[in-house]
Amino acid sequence: MEPLTGGRSTVAEDREVGVPGDGAAGAGGVPPSVRPDLVALTGYHSPQVDVEVRLNTNESPLPPPAAWLDAFRSELSGLDFNRYPDRAATGLRAALAEAHGVDQAQVFCANGSNEVLQCLLLAYGGPGRSAALFEPTYTMHAQIARTTGTAVAVGRRTDEFLLDLEEVSRVLAATAPVVTFLCSPNNPTGRIEPPRTVEAVIERAPGLVVIDEAYAQFARSTSLDLVRGGTPGADRTVVVRTFSKTWSMAGVRLGYLVGSPEVVAACELVALPYHLDAIKQLAGRLALRYVDEMELRVAEVTEERGRIAAGLAQLPVDTWPSDANFILFRPQDRPAGEVWSELVARSVLVRDCSSWPGLTGCLRVTVGLPGENDRFLDALNESLR
Ligand code: PMP
Repeated sequence: MEPLTGGRSTVAEDREVGVPGDGAAGAGGVPPSVRPDLVALTGYHSPQVDVEVRLNTNESPLPPPAAWLDAFRSELSGLDFNRYPDRAATGLRAALAEAHGVDQAQVFCANGSNEVLQCLLLAYGGPGRSAALFEPTYTMHAQIARTTGTAVAVGRRTDEFLLDLEEVSRVLAATAPVVTFLCSPNNPTGRIEPPRTVEAVIERAPGLVVIDEAYAQFARSTSLDLVRGGTPGADRTVVVRTFSKTWSMAGVRLGYLVGSPEVVAACELVALPYHLDAIKQLAGRLALRYVDEMELRVAEVTEERGRIAAGLAQLPVDTWPSDANFILFRPQDRPAGEVWSELVARSVLVRDCSSWPGLTGCLRVTVGLPGENDRFLDALNESLR
């Protein structure tokens, strides 16, 4: 192709030679259709309804500490807004590394843990490769795999929503996935996998094991020890965390992984330059100074979770033990959609999971403030009466 001269744009040049795909050839043509493999995807979103009590997206009901906001405000004015941010997010990664007792080279940060997952799949997935997951689980694992052209190998959990190692072995042997996803505590079931199960999956997995720990601080155990040097399989194990839940910073969009330096380097290959803005780096770095306050919030939410579980136990619903900031429940005698609508009519919004794989009849409630949880329990009681 001749070099472009005389003000002709690259786009004009592409049009002249034609872009593969329907409708794209020729000036004045119609816009191209999207990639055929994306057409069946519906995207992931929770319908937002105008209600007084919003318990559908697993956020923290409590704001970050006032002292954090003061520190954030005062340091914000010192940012060089005219300059690109520190591309390596050095301060934030150093603070996270210290918090977890790992090396800074083992930490990668991105815009929410969803973007961390996307970077992992951009780096390791793609055409001809597959990612394994066990339904029901976090819907975005499959969604991000598909958008990155990665095939999805689906296994099933037990009726109690736990992993069954025979099923895990079957799926891994049949598909040899490059990435195996575990979500523990699992969204939307709240179940945590016993540490020995996680270790057994790492033993069996042929590639990376990505343990999504978005809710880990609410749980009895974490897999972070498994990424530390010296542990068998540590170089293939990745733990993904978020600031969206326990750190009360869902609006900031910040997540990270702890893994081997090689995995971090792979994610850096696919992340866009300066993808992590300076404001977010500051917010996250400062948040880590307030671990005690974060733990207090976690304790409050965990106590409320116990109160909701006790309330649900009095009602005609099935529930499962939760290690997260939400509880899955299944009305025994009423379709989930009807109960969801009756809760909305009482200005309480929960998540309707009933159309998700393996979750027929199920709804999920996020733990809110005490008054919100009372509103939920009262509304559910009335709806089921
Ligand atoms: N993983 C799990 C299991 C989640 O439930 C969520 C939030 N719904 C995420 C990752 C993404 O969190 P974020 O992108 O806000 O960090």
